[in-house]
Amino acid sequence: MLVTGGNRGIGLAVARAFAADGDHVIVTSRSGEAPEGLDAVACDVTDTASVDAAFTEAEKRFGGPVEVLVANAGITQDTLLMRMSDDDFASVLDTNLTGAFRCARRVSKGMLKLKRGRMVFISSVVGLYGSPGQANYAASKAGLVGLARSITRELGGRAITANVVAPGFIDTDMTRALPEKQQQAYIGQIPAGRFAEPDEVARVVRFIASPDAGYISGAVIPVDGGLGMGH
Ligand code: NDP
Repeated sequence: MLVTGGNRGIGLAVARAFAADGDHVIVTSRSGEAPEGLDAVACDVTDTASVDAAFTEAEKRFGGPVEVLVANAGITQDTLLMRMSDDDFASVLDTNLTGAFRCARRVSKGMLKLKRGRMVFISSVVGLYGSPGQANYAASKAGLVGLARSITRELGGRAITANVVAPGFIDTDMTRALPEKQQQAYIGQIPAGRFAEPDEVARVVRFIASPDAGYISGAVIPVDGGLGMGH
C-alpha cells in the first residue's frame, strides 16, 4: 500500500497501522526521507512527473501495481474569503484535490490490470460542513467526494473501491498550529468533547482497505466525534 504525505500526522499513523498488519507499505514524503522502519519515495503531489516517478519506483519495490492508495497529502492556507488570493485558493486545490486526482489516475491502470484495488481519499468534516476562513480547503475536500464517487461509477465493476474518510479534529501539526483559544472553541462543539488521535483515523482507513469492506464504495465515512452529523 502507498500513502501520500505518510511522513507525519495522519498519513504516518495510517502507514504504521498497515505495517503493523504485515503489509508492505511505502510512504511518500516531499523530502524522500523515510520515517523509522518504513520505506519511502519522494513525491510532490502538485507535480505530475513527480507523482509518476514515485509510483513507478513504488511499483518496482512492490514487484507489481499499487493495490491500496491512501491519498492523504494536504495543506491549509486559511483566510477570509474577501482576502483570499487566487494563489491561496489555487494552491490548496492543487495539493488537496488535483494532487489526489493525479495519484488516483496513476494507480488506476495498475489496479485495472490487477482486477482489484482500494482508493481512500482523506477529506475533512469541513468539506460538507463548511468552515469560515477555509473556503479553499473546504472546496478541495468537498471535491474529493465527487472524485471518489465518479471513480466508483467508472471502476466499481472491476473490484476497485473509492471512498472518502472525513476526519474531524485530529491532534497533528495541522491542528496544533491553531491558537489555543480556537482549539478550545472547537472542542466545545464536538459531541465527543475532544480531538482524536491520528490512530483513530488510521484504523478506519485500515478497515476500508480490507477485504471486509469490499462492498463499500463511494461512501463518506466520518471520523469526527459526531461534529458533522447529518452533513
Ligand atoms: P500534517 O500537516 O501533519 O501533514 C501533511 C502531510 O501532507 C505531510 O506529510 C506533508 O508533507 C504532506 N504534503 C503537503 N503538501 C504536499 C505536497 N505538495 N506533496 C506531497 N505531500 C504533501 O497534516 P495532517 O496529518 O493533520 O493531515 C493529513 C490529511 O488529513 C490532510 O489531507 C488534511 O487535510 C486531513 N485532515 C486533517 C485533519 C486534522 O485535524 N489534522 C482533519 C481533517 C482532515 P511534508 O512533511 O513534506 O510537508
